[in-house]
Amino acid sequence: MSEVYPTEKPYRVRRTPDRAHYDKETVHGILDEGLVAHVGYVGDKGEPHVIPIFYARRGDELLFHASSKSGLGLAAKKGVSMCATVTLIDSIVYARSGFHHSMKFRSVAAHGPTELLTGDDKLSALDFMVDRLEPGRAAHLRPMNIQEIKATHVVRLMLDQVTAKVSVGDAPNEEPEDLSWPVWAGIVPVDTVYGVPRQHDPSVSDAGRPALAGPMFRK
Ligand SMILES: Cc1cc2nc3c(=O)[nH]c(=O)nc-3n(C[C@H](O)[C@H](O)[C@H](O)COP(=O)(O)OP(=O)(O)OC[C@H]3O[C@@H](n4cnc5c(N)ncnc54)[C@H](O)[C@@H]3O)c2cc1C
Repeated sequence: MSEVYPTEKPYRVRRTPDRAHYDKETVHGILDEGLVAHVGYVGDKGEPHVIPIFYARRGDELLFHASSKSGLGLAAKKGVSMCATVTLIDSIVYARSGFHHSMKFRSVAAHGPTELLTGDDKLSALDFMVDRLEPGRAAHLRPMNIQEIKATHVVRLMLDQVTAKVSVGDAPNEEPEDLSWPVWAGIVPVDTVYGVPRQHDPSVSDAGRPALAGPMFRK
């Protein structure tokens, strides 16, 4: 049995709670398939920000990097609490009424405190993020120089109050009396497809070449 996040109100799903999941297996499966999180936080003047950003999950941490001069980087430096959401869309649902049009999806919302990583923690997190794109690639790269390291904030959002919501199925939810309505109804699957890697001309080595089968190439 998978461990469960200790998510409490107001972070628990209210509507359609049968679609809510708090177990780590479901949450990690979604996070490890996505590439982009939308990270929300409240700025100094109380204004909301939601920023799309590349991330990598490591255990119960969500790692992302940001320019040290970016709003996100500056907020993380202050330890501001953030919320990161990740959404995978599996299909668009065309029902016989506008009301029942919807999507089948898997999503995660993770709330928690943030902090900046430093020293060896920071360097290992940066390598981890490269390896998320192709396992083992970081070992082949030119090491980062001091300027690059200074210019990059590495943010850790602890996975604490975490919710997954999963909507599955092959058919629209319809009112029984709508089923004879004369309009096309069904689903259109949506897939993320990765292409064949195209090498940049001046490349001199095949080391760290993205594989055709790996975490990024699930389909
Ligand atoms: C692609 C997509 C399209 C959607 N379209 C619609 C739409 O058109 N209309 C609509 O009403 N809803 C839509 N939803 C569902 C929507 O995300 C919310 O789940 C919904 O508004 C109900 O929220 P709530 O009142 O239960 O939770 P809220 O009270 O709004 O939020 C409480 C907590 O529940 C958790 N939570 C809420 N929603 C999600 C979620 N999707 N994934 C993970 N955790 C969540 C979060 O931790 C949040 O802090 C869509 C979801 C996705 C992924």
